[in-house]
Amino acid sequence: MLVLGIESSCDETGAALISDTEGLLADALHTQIDMHRAYGGVVPELASRDHIRRVVALTDEVLEKAGKTRRDITAIAVTEGPGLAGALLAGNAVAHAMGFALGIPVVGVHHLEGHLLAARLAKPAPEFPFLALLVSGGHTQILRVESFGSYELLGETLDDAAGEAFDKTAQLLGLPYPGGPAVSALADKGTPGAIELARPMIHAPNLMMSFSGLKTSVLTAVTNALDPKDEAFRANLARGFVDALVDVLAAKLVRAIKMTRLNHVVVAGGVSANRQLRERLTQEVERRRGKIYFPPMRLCTDNGAMIAAAGIARLESMTAAEREALVDKLAFGVRPRWPLESLPKAQVPEAL
Ligand code: ATP
Ligand code: MG
Ligand code: FE
Repeated sequence: MLVLGIESSCDETGAALISDTEGLLADALHTQIDMHRAYGGVVPELASRDHIRRVVALTDEVLEKAGKTRRDITAIAVTEGPGLAGALLAGNAVAHAMGFALGIPVVGVHHLEGHLLAARLAKPAPEFPFLALLVSGGHTQILRVESFGSYELLGETLDDAAGEAFDKTAQLLGLPYPGGPAVSALADKGTPGAIELARPMIHAPNLMMSFSGLKTSVLTAVTNALDPKDEAFRANLARGFVDALVDVLAAKLVRAIKMTRLNHVVVAGGVSANRQLRERLTQEVERRRGKIYFPPMRLCTDNGAMIAAAGIARLESMTAAEREALVDKLAFGVRPRWPLESLPKAQVPEAL
C-alpha cells in the first residue's frame, strides 16, 4: 500500500508518501507564515487560495523525491477536520478529484489523530495504552489513549490553547507570528524568577486548564513597564511567561499520571517542539519511571507525514470492502469541528 497524505487545515500545506512496507518515503511542506505575518495571524480566505495553488505541486514533489508516479499511489489520506472550513475544502477538493481520476480510495483523517500519530514516526515508537498531552495552536488537551482510535478526554483548556498563548504573548512583546519559537528564544535570555506570573488553575483538583489570564498578565506587565522596549525586561517577561505555562502543563500531566497510573506519555502538537517544555516534561516523567515520546522535531507542527501516517493506519484497520466503499465517492464534506472522541476504535496497524 502506498498512501499519499495531504494536509491543508490551517496555514501549512503538506504532502507526504508513506508505504506499508518501507515507512515514510518523502514529505514536503509549504508554510504560509510569511503571507500571514503582516496580519499577525491566519487570514482564512488567503489561506484557502494558497492551498489550491500548492497541493498539486507538493504532490508532484514528493512523488519525484520517492521515485514514484501518480499511478503507484494506492490510496489518498486527507485532513477532513477540524480546521478552517475553506482551507479544508481546498485540500479535500484536490484529494477527491485525484482519487476519482485514479480510481483509488480517499480516506478523511482527523487532524489531531495525525498530530498524535506523528509520535509513531519517531523511534522508538510508543505502545498503547498511553497518556497524551496535545498542545497545539488550537487545542490543549490531556487524553487517555487506550488503543488506536480510542480517545478519552480527561481535561482541556477552558479558554486559550497553549500555542495561542504563545502567539498572543509574542504579539504583545513585538515578536513575529507564529510566536512559539520567538518567545522561547527570548525566554532563554531572561532570568528565572525575575518576573513571576500567576499559574492559573494549577492547584485545581482536576485536569482543566486556563491560559487566557496569562496573556492578560503579560499585557498588564507591558502596560505598567517604565520602558516596555528594554531588552532585559522583555527577556524576563518572556521567561516568566514560559515558566508559568510549562509549570501548569507539567503539574497537570503529573496529576494525570497519578490519576490514571499510566506513565507512558506522548506529547504532540506544535508546542511539543518547545525545548523548555520537552526538558521539563521529560524530567517529570522519568522521575516517575515512565517513558515519554515526542514526534520528530520537524513533524510537531502541521505536516503531510502525520496525515499519511494516520491515513495508512485507518486504511489498514478497514476490511477490503470498507476500503472499496471509499473509491469514486464524488460527494465529500469537511468537518471544521470534529471531536476526537467520536472516532471509531480500530486495530493497531503493524506497519507503523
Ligand atoms: P490545531 O492543531 O490545534 O488545529 P494548529 O494546527 O494551528 O492547531 P500546530 O500547527 O500544531 O497548530 O501548532 C502551531 C502552534 O505551535 C503555534 O501556536 C506556534 O506558536 C506553536 N509553536 C511552534 N513551535 C513552537 C515552539 N518551539 N515553542 C512553542 N510553541 C511553538
Ligand atoms: Mg500552522
Ligand atoms: Fe495542527
